[in-house]
Amino acid sequence: MVRWQSPKNLTLEQRRKIEAMIHRQVNHWTSALIGYDGWPYGEIPVKVVGWAVADASQILDRQPDEIVYTDYIFDDLSRTDPRIPEKLPIAPSELSRFENFRNPNYSYPGGLDKRFDMYLWATESFGGGAGGDWGQRQSDDYILSTLDLDQVTIVAHELGHGFGLPDFYQDHECPPGGFPLPTIMWAGNSSTIDRRYPVYGNWPETGVQWVQYTFDQHYTIVQSDVYWFKDNLGIDVPNSYRILYLNRGQWEEVGGPVGLGTK
Ligand SMILES: [Zn+2]
Repeated sequence: MVRWQSPKNLTLEQRRKIEAMIHRQVNHWTSALIGYDGWPYGEIPVKVVGWAVADASQILDRQPDEIVYTDYIFDDLSRTDPRIPEKLPIAPSELSRFENFRNPNYSYPGGLDKRFDMYLWATESFGGGAGGDWGQRQSDDYILSTLDLDQVTIVAHELGHGFGLPDFYQDHECPPGGFPLPTIMWAGNSSTIDRRYPVYGNWPETGVQWVQYTFDQHYTIVQSDVYWFKDNLGIDVPNSYRILYLNRGQWEEVGGPVGLGTK
């Protein structure tokens, strides 16, 4: 369920990108678990089952299958921060899994199709993020400006709280045996969930891509390392690559290279 506490409109394209963005974050968390210790899921589908907004006209070009909720409550946060909108849209609590999962006999009205697990909660002028098993909260501008990114740091971090992980800020919050750094749950330590090395990405670009280094002086370089990765969600290793150098204004291929694998 997308909770849109913002005066901005949402285009159909933005709504589709929001759904795809959440799908990517969920599956970045779980893709490494496929095949591990009886993990029962493959790719996990993500569906936005409704849009909670203050005004239904904010959902531009609304499609017949799109459900829009326009009830709202008062956001107490607006008392201490007047930049926060007073109106806080809500979806029906009887459809919220977070509010009903403790009752094993609970029956969702209309079946499971409209039930929602979490809120993706956008709030105008919200600083940073907040997360838990109820969902992820961050600013509307942050969400709108990161829709095309493969990994959306704040959403992914807050989703980690949804899976029960703490912030690893303090020693007592960390696993006793330690863990490999970097970790996205230590804010600022990593901007991505599952990377062991610093990476450059150009998702969703395709075709020929390049990285260029400009050095401050002349160096003789005899070796270069590249760490390739793919995530089975759209990022893939290249078919091939070359290393070039600039020779009096002309890009020339390094002669007689050894290696150049893409494993
Ligand atoms: Zn956190």
